[in-house]
Order: sequence, then C-alpha cells, then structure tokens
Amino acid sequence: METPAREIHGGVKFRTEFLSAAAPADARLEELKAWCAEFHKRNFAPPYGEFSQGNLSFRIRPGGDAFVISGSQVGWKDRLTDDKFVTVQNCDLQNGIVYANGTRDPSSESMLHFAIYRARKDVQAVFHGHSREILLCVNKLNLSETREKAPYGSIELVRSVMEVLGDADFVLIRKHGFVSLGATMKEAGERAIETHRLCLQDG
Ligand SMILES: [Zn+2]
Repeated sequence: METPAREIHGGVKFRTEFLSAAAPADARLEELKAWCAEFHKRNFAPPYGEFSQGNLSFRIRPGGDAFVISGSQVGWKDRLTDDKFVTVQNCDLQNGIVYANGTRDPSSESMLHFAIYRARKDVQAVFHGHSREILLCVNKLNLSETREKAPYGSIELVRSVMEVLGDADFVLIRKHGFVSLGATMKEAGERAIETHRLCLQDG
C-alpha cells in the first residue's frame, strides 16, 4: 500500500460491536448536522473521493461516556440523514473495540473522541477537522501540537493527543489535522473558525 504524505481517512482500525441498529434519537443531532455542513463549506473536512475527512461529536449526558458521532465513510456535501450518525456507548481502548448503536461504523477517530471525553469532563463537544492553513500556523498562534506523527485512527494517535492535551481546547495533530473542543458544539465549532481566521490574518 502506498503511503501518502498526508494520510487519508480510509475506514476504521477497530472492531465495532453493535448493541443495536438504532440511529441516535437526540434533538441535538440537527445541530451536529449543521456543523458537519459548516465544516464541509469551510473545507475543514476536505472530501477524499466521496467521503469527508473529519469527524464531529457531542457528549450525550454531562459526566457520561456516551456520545453521538458522525459515521465512517460519509460525505458531508449533501443533507445528512440520521443513519449517518452513530452512538458510541463505550470503548475498550486496550483491545480496540468500540461499542455502538447504529447501522454503520462510527468515525475512524472514535477512540480519540472517547479518550478526550474520559479525560476532560468539561468538554461536551469534540470536532476533528483537517486544514492545511491551520497546520501551518503552529508557531504563529503558539498552538499545542502532538510530538510525533501517528497513523489516523490508531491508539498511538490517541496517546499522542492525550500526551499534550492538558487543559488545552485546541490541539494540532502533527501532519494531519486538529481537534477543537468546547462546552457546547457552538464553542467547538466557533473555536475552529476563529483559529482559522487568525491563521489567515496578516502579522
Ligand atoms: Zn483526521
């Protein structure tokens, strides 16, 4: 297999155990869909073929482990239906198993979202996107960045983010993308937009 300079999201690297085929039934799903559309529009989830490279989630209940996340191998160009999203109930990081409700694999970075929610009870939304411009701003904006490049969807990538996360709300994943965190989806989304705006600003 060829290894491109910037690795693309090509499916999950964990095993999904489906607890049921139910799509998420949560009023906040519409807000999550709107943010997927916004990320698509701003090219924070650049399409690779027909699939968008990004994954967005929100925590279902404060303090709980469960979250709703975009599914693996979904394009965000068109209006998204509920079944393009998955509820992750739990993860076994050691053995690479994700326990979920839905009809498709949850996003390839589900283990990363899980680890962040576990470590940061203040975080209710985790938005992962890709942006060449933001990656180039690491020094200009003094952003936190993972120390080593790790393959997408891997436990090494989860560890590399957790290593530098601390109480930061925005972290660059080296040669890959970013995670933007928030107490609400609005906060996580607007943080990414604002960071990108500052990147493009002169001086
Ligand atoms: Zn990614």
